[in-house]
Amino acid sequence: MKNIYTHIPGYPRIGARRELKTALERHWRGELTSAELEDAGRVLRARQWARQRDAGLDFVTVGDFAFYDHVANHIQLFGCEPARFGFQDEAALVRYFTLARGRAGAGRDNDGGCCGHEGHPGHDSGSPALEMTKWFDTNYHYLVPELDAGTQFELASSRLFDEVAEALALGHAVKATLIGPLTFLWLAKATDGTPRPDLLDRLLPRLLPVYGQVLARLKEQGVAWVQIEEPILGLDLPQEWRSAFDTAYWQLNQAGAPLLLATYFSPLEENLSLACRLPVAGLHVDGVRAAHELVSVADWLPVHKVLSVGIVDGRNIWRTDLDAALATLAPVLEKRNGQLWLSTSCSLLHVPYTLQPETALAPELKSWLAFADEKLDELAVLRAAIERPAAAAEALAISRAAIAARRASPRVHDAAVRARLARLPADAAQRKSPFAERRLLQGVKLDLPPFPTTTIGSFPQTPAIRSARAACKRGALDGAAYEAAMRAEIEHAIRRQEALGLDVLVHGEAERNDMVEYFGEQLAGFAFTQNGWVQSYGSRCVKPPVIWGDVSRPAPITVEWARYAQSLTALPVKGMVTGPVTILQWSFVRDDQPRADTADQIALAMRDEVDDLQQAGIAIVQIDEPALREGLPLRQGPRAGYLDRAVRAFRLAAAVARDDTQIHTHMCYAEFNDILPQIAALDADVITIETSRSAMALLDAFGNFRYPNDIGPGVYDIHSPRVPDRGEMLALLRRARSVIPPGQLWVNPDCGLKTRGWPETEAALRNMVEAARQMRAEL
Ligand code: GLN
Ligand code: ZN
Repeated sequence: MKNIYTHIPGYPRIGARRELKTALERHWRGELTSAELEDAGRVLRARQWARQRDAGLDFVTVGDFAFYDHVANHIQLFGCEPARFGFQDEAALVRYFTLARGRAGAGRDNDGGCCGHEGHPGHDSGSPALEMTKWFDTNYHYLVPELDAGTQFELASSRLFDEVAEALALGHAVKATLIGPLTFLWLAKATDGTPRPDLLDRLLPRLLPVYGQVLARLKEQGVAWVQIEEPILGLDLPQEWRSAFDTAYWQLNQAGAPLLLATYFSPLEENLSLACRLPVAGLHVDGVRAAHELVSVADWLPVHKVLSVGIVDGRNIWRTDLDAALATLAPVLEKRNGQLWLSTSCSLLHVPYTLQPETALAPELKSWLAFADEKLDELAVLRAAIERPAAAAEALAISRAAIAARRASPRVHDAAVRARLARLPADAAQRKSPFAERRLLQGVKLDLPPFPTTTIGSFPQTPAIRSARAACKRGALDGAAYEAAMRAEIEHAIRRQEALGLDVLVHGEAERNDMVEYFGEQLAGFAFTQNGWVQSYGSRCVKPPVIWGDVSRPAPITVEWARYAQSLTALPVKGMVTGPVTILQWSFVRDDQPRADTADQIALAMRDEVDDLQQAGIAIVQIDEPALREGLPLRQGPRAGYLDRAVRAFRLAAAVARDDTQIHTHMCYAEFNDILPQIAALDADVITIETSRSAMALLDAFGNFRYPNDIGPGVYDIHSPRVPDRGEMLALLRRARSVIPPGQLWVNPDCGLKTRGWPETEAALRNMVEAARQMRAEL
């Protein structure tokens, strides 16, 4: 009998050359029929299964493919499409894309996020898309199922079974995958206010029979395994959710399909014995993030069950240290009598496809990396190393050499960066004077009216701007011409802001493609791939930078643009930099030192930028941190530690500001309740946040907390072209004034305006300035 099996929880779906993105967008434009889109999907699946088989995996995974999002597939599988869409007899695929993107005329769809990283619920009349939110602590966004106390489930889609049949017909051994019932319910939101425990109570008994039908059908089709994903076992679960696992899995087991319960992203901790005793045939655990639990799992899991260890990191792009992996596996193998499944820690959805087309990466760096396909190869080497060590010797030696080279590389380690961090004075993260004193000095210098108006940084990225940037990248536009084009854009933005009567101006960010890539490209220690795309949501992909070495800033980045913008006007122009936590969060981060140390290095680079900006006469600098919250660990335990380090990194970047330099920060979300002390600890002079869609409800939290510094609650939603009138914004501002002392309030939109056009931008800002003037009149 075989002892070692290999598999993966899932494979990327967007296509190595983003074929799915292309097909989807053509379909949405009406250039590709549904049948042609289905064909494109079939081709991609056949290719990814062939890749898995060729890499020697024992099963191909089926059910990880989705035209938009795998959670949305489950919504159709279980027949729980929200009634609010009023579907009649539309085809399944039409309904699917309506769930995902909203109905035309709904004002916004899910393809227009403000920063390419975040999805946003729609709000206008019509049928806005399902809300999107981050899949655990990844940058992938799923569509949130909408349930209520009355939701009924039924087996309503044959897509999964069709795909299984497709794989079987191609001769593959199939492991189907499904999100488990508890995780599915956990990820959903109640649209009728039903408290979560009640929703669980009511809906689980209705959902389980449908799972039973799905499992019975998969079994009948002849799948070898069904992977049932319950990543919530790695969360701090309320007791009622933990208990629900026992009943649920007792019932699912009745279907008789061999179940592989899959967990990932987080240690099991208090759920470890629960996960081990559930009546399933196997358990997959994350052997990277929960390596310390492996021996306990090997002990607790009954010997007749399969143990699958995700030993190759599915969340990062570094080559596995195979010797270390084998050492981690050794005691587990011993306890399991040599029987083990090897896998990646989680689905490979979160990494790019393959290193092969990366011709521009430095060969040395490239030899340190492993994308999805290279990770499959690593699994094969690990299996060989266990089964037939002699046969794996050569592959192991290559891997060992790459790991050793990376460890010793002088290019990774920059003594000056390390020395600077080590020598930082104790007060490096501390502004010179307390806020109250800074505020007076800044007030004198800036001489702003009450309720000062400003924007978040970007102005519309027009087709002209994009094509200038593309031409410059291609070499069709030389540096001087590009610079002239950007200067013209800056001047245009400044003149329009002056005409609108805004108080604090911005240069408009015309020169930036992306708020992280732009800085990464100019920092040492960062590399960029040509094809390293990862799905963010739907057809939207991101290409995260790779932080591979010590970070430093060889030269000023934004200073000349800011200086030029300021030279055009007597009003203050806000300098604009991306914060260290956000740069870290939206990159692939080196794994050879704690993330927080990398954050500190980025912070020092940005600190120099802030300093240079103030030396250049910029009186206000905004340090954007929209991703501060995204880095929060999944479990409560490590959260305080994360927040401490995140706050420190921000402060390291900011504290170089003189007392009379005003530091702003910006965050694009509305959940602050649990992190208000840390937000206050950032000690930014002004924070601008997204609030308009929660109708300022969030401000209550700031008010109750007595948030000490200035605050600019967004008065209008920038995710839609809709122009709110003055009265609407005035109502929000009056509401804000009732909870926050008026002297602390700023007036600004929710976020940057780069996805908008100029006409609606100008109209909305004009109304916003009028609303602020009215507020001043009411003082
Ligand atoms: N300054 C950035 C902008 O206005 C902020 C974007 C963001 O927070 N996502 O575009
Ligand atoms: Zn924002």
